[in-house]
Amino acid sequence: MELRSSNIDKLGGEVFDVLIVGGGINGASAAAALAGKGVRVALIERGDFAGSTSMHSSNLVWGGIKYMESRDFALVRKLCRSRNHLIKSYPATVQEIRFLTTITQGFRYHPRYLWAGAWLYWLIGNGFTRIPRFLSPQAISDNEAIIDTSSAVGGFEYSDAYLHDNDARFVFNFVRGALNYGAVAVNYVESLGAQREPDGWLTRVRDVMTGKELAVRSRVLINAAGPWVDEHNALTGQSTNHRHVYSKGIHLIVPRLTDSQRVLAFFADDGRLFFVIPMGPRTCIGTTDTRVERPEVVATEEDIRFVLGNINKRLRLERPLDQQDIISIRCGVRPLAVKAAGGGERDFLQLSRKHAIDINRQDAHLSIFGGKLTDCLNVGEEVVEAVNRMGIEVPFPKHRWYGEPPDQVRREFLHQARLMRLDDLTAQASSEPLSTRLWRRYGTHALEMLEEIREDPRQAEVLIEGTEYLRCELHYAKRREMITRLEDFLRRRSKIALVVHEEAMRRSPGLREACVILFGDEADARLEEYFDTTRRERSEAAAVERAATLDAASTVLAEPGAEPGRQASH
Ligand SMILES: Cc1cc2nc3c(=O)[nH]c(=O)nc-3n(C[C@H](O)[C@H](O)[C@H](O)COP(=O)(O)OP(=O)(O)OC[C@H]3O[C@@H](n4cnc5c(N)ncnc54)[C@H](O)[C@@H]3O)c2cc1C
Repeated sequence: MELRSSNIDKLGGEVFDVLIVGGGINGASAAAALAGKGVRVALIERGDFAGSTSMHSSNLVWGGIKYMESRDFALVRKLCRSRNHLIKSYPATVQEIRFLTTITQGFRYHPRYLWAGAWLYWLIGNGFTRIPRFLSPQAISDNEAIIDTSSAVGGFEYSDAYLHDNDARFVFNFVRGALNYGAVAVNYVESLGAQREPDGWLTRVRDVMTGKELAVRSRVLINAAGPWVDEHNALTGQSTNHRHVYSKGIHLIVPRLTDSQRVLAFFADDGRLFFVIPMGPRTCIGTTDTRVERPEVVATEEDIRFVLGNINKRLRLERPLDQQDIISIRCGVRPLAVKAAGGGERDFLQLSRKHAIDINRQDAHLSIFGGKLTDCLNVGEEVVEAVNRMGIEVPFPKHRWYGEPPDQVRREFLHQARLMRLDDLTAQASSEPLSTRLWRRYGTHALEMLEEIREDPRQAEVLIEGTEYLRCELHYAKRREMITRLEDFLRRRSKIALVVHEEAMRRSPGLREACVILFGDEADARLEEYFDTTRRERSEAAAVERAATLDAASTVLAEPGAEPGRQASH
């Protein structure tokens, strides 16, 4: 029986210690931590795992250098420690990266002052990374010819970290970890609300793929619904100390702009940090920061113009980037935790991205607000502690539930890979040797892939042109990664849909074979569903755009002198 259907069957079959609603980073890390320490956990996600906010981040694991300006040193210390801990625990996945920040004339701080701040940041982070350095405009040019230094007065380089693959893959690995520890995790299952009964929670859930409803029983309920936490609390009658406000952020994926493995940082027109981030064969640029009222958002023409305009102003490109260069768009909201009473009225851009866990002991209910990917290990540990305080036994409290497999296993994998000359099979356009990539993505299971390739060398063939994904990875995904819709594989387990043009993907002869591997008889239906969805999303975005234009026009008519379509703030 397939992983998903067998897990759905298990959902109704027992009383879980904990049910988690929401499979973004917060829900996934909570599930991995609880399951790893021996608690009986179920996790449901109404879309795909990491299908919302957690697939739209900047992929950065950082100590919060921007909070240095607001002198929130305690937060910076906490985030730096989380960053260091992640780098140590995931050496192949979370890697140190240099940030080169260019300062232009008239900026509110002198570059030497910022450089001194970077040293303090480095010290607060226990000197864990490479030291910062100051760069003159000439040195910036020498290091990164692509940066337009005509109005630069200097810059500095410092280190933080980034997710080598992508955020969604990072999240899924926590879900996979939870499954390995016996958790029951299912995607495309929605909570319709929960009721507190004398001996625990009864949550009504619906299988989104079939419409079938069932009841899940648990002693504790965790609301990890990200931007929809407040909405789900309303369904379950929970009132909390915190609530969310939302900030929309977009990123554009464009052809690779520079070969250096650095993040280029600038201060955008609105004074906020703005990034050019390496993404394998592509570059990711962004982001914006716009207050919005609802979590369902699309990237508007104005957002896109803002990002392209800022990038074109700061880089020396052969020709300015335009809409035609956009390969894909990421757009989501940051759920920001504020005090339920009036907290959102603080200066919006100054709101920190700290997480908060509201605990209702009497009802055995937890709500996770805000947070960052960077903070995920803390969230996992804090949730275990809170659940334990609610009377749930934690049989293995010291078990380490996260991290890559031990170095000994990695060495054995690399040894076997070397003996069979695996790296000779690396695709020509690939950004790294095959062995490095397989280890990072699959850890111990990469050894099984070696076995498959030894038995049948066709398993090492790239299936979808222009990507680095092999036939054996598709088979693995089918067995172990709960691919329910094609988008789950193309956009989240892999990053194919981010880095390959949709048209190129449509033409790729390998895409259908990939679908056959993943979906068998349903291959054509899933393929059609995928392209229908991307078409529908585009037309919805266009409709939102039209409505916004009409709105702006009516505002101008109602208030002569008002500026049409201006964003509140980025
Ligand atoms: C533009 C942008 C850039 C960012 N950059 C970074 C960065 O570089 N580094 C960093 O550390 N952080 C970054 N963040 C922040 C980080 O991405 C988020 O804080 C984090 O992903 C939130 O995770 P979550 O689990 O709370 O929410 P989500 O990922 O949204 O997960 C919540 C899940 O709950 C599900 N759900 C909701 N209701 C129900 C229901 N009724 N039943 C079942 N499931 C339900 C949703 O489908 C969703 O998948 C960024 C965020 C944005 C938007």
